[in-house]
Amino acid sequence: MSIPRKVHAVLRRIVIAALIALTASAVPLAGARADRPAKEIFGAAELPAVLPARAIGFYSKGCLAGGVAIATDGPAWQAMRLSRNRRWGHPDLVALVERLSRDAAARDGWPGLLIGDLAQPRGGPMLSGHASHQVGLDADIWLTPMPDRTLSASEREDISATSMLKKDTLYVDDRIWTPAHARVLMRAASYPEVDRIFIHPGIKKKLCDTWTGDRSAMGKLRPYYGHHYHFHIRIKCPPGASGCKSQAPPPQGTGCDDSLAWWFTAEPWAPAKPEKTDKPKPQKRDMRLSDLPAACAQVVQAPGPASEADVTFGSGSIASPDGAKALTLGNAASAFAPVGLPARIPIPVPRPVN
Ligand SMILES: [Zn+2]
Repeated sequence: MSIPRKVHAVLRRIVIAALIALTASAVPLAGARADRPAKEIFGAAELPAVLPARAIGFYSKGCLAGGVAIATDGPAWQAMRLSRNRRWGHPDLVALVERLSRDAAARDGWPGLLIGDLAQPRGGPMLSGHASHQVGLDADIWLTPMPDRTLSASEREDISATSMLKKDTLYVDDRIWTPAHARVLMRAASYPEVDRIFIHPGIKKKLCDTWTGDRSAMGKLRPYYGHHYHFHIRIKCPPGASGCKSQAPPPQGTGCDDSLAWWFTAEPWAPAKPEKTDKPKPQKRDMRLSDLPAACAQVVQAPGPASEADVTFGSGSIASPDGAKALTLGNAASAFAPVGLPARIPIPVPRPVN
């Protein structure tokens, strides 16, 4: 019986070695997890955290609980770049985008919104693109009007947005800009829930120079780099929200002043001067989960819904532990009335099931 005993001993050694290897690998893995950039953790989430809806932290340092998706297609919108999975937001943001789409189509002669990035399913930092859009209260809307047909999934990946600027200038191209662009921007700024809108300085100047209507919301339009292909809507922290960090409101007045004129000097566009110092620059470290508000760890751990459809706004079946919120969503969804929409707006197509 010496041979089987030998085999047994070898097998036992193999098993023990494997167990040691497993135990050993578990330790560095745990270490790597704590070190893992938050953008990788949040970038990997495919579905939201089923928790009461909550924007946690600040626009550029936070996460989102209870996020809902805007449908890929609505009566007056189409979502773009579907592969990015950034159609998620706080229910208040999604409701506001849908409201803007309806108002713009019914009252501003704007055929519908092409919707860019909102947030990731659980918000948080992203692997590419934005510094903000982390708490589900930011949305990018293209300055290209929605075409008169339903775009295919591949068109939504490939079509480029249109710049509003004359090539190589800071000024709006009047062959592309229309009064409807001005109306949809001023409409978005007019909503009390909207905190500010980021827009290229050239577009802000165009509005300052040409808008003859109510200018009381003009100050919410904040000139900033980029933003000539799209505008960026930022809404305020929802009323009564805890742990949502507000931004200081924009300065009083229209902003059609020296602060705007500054953008048309060389200064903002000059390349950054290298700092005169011998000290090596500290390495910019990726944000980690521990850098975000503590509640974001729960957002990462929380279970997801059974399907995306369950948490798509307007689908009428939003699963939420927050009963009151779910009821509000139901009401908002049923408030869709295609009454008054221009005839050329396509009929909403059912969302693709996946
Ligand atoms: Zn944006």
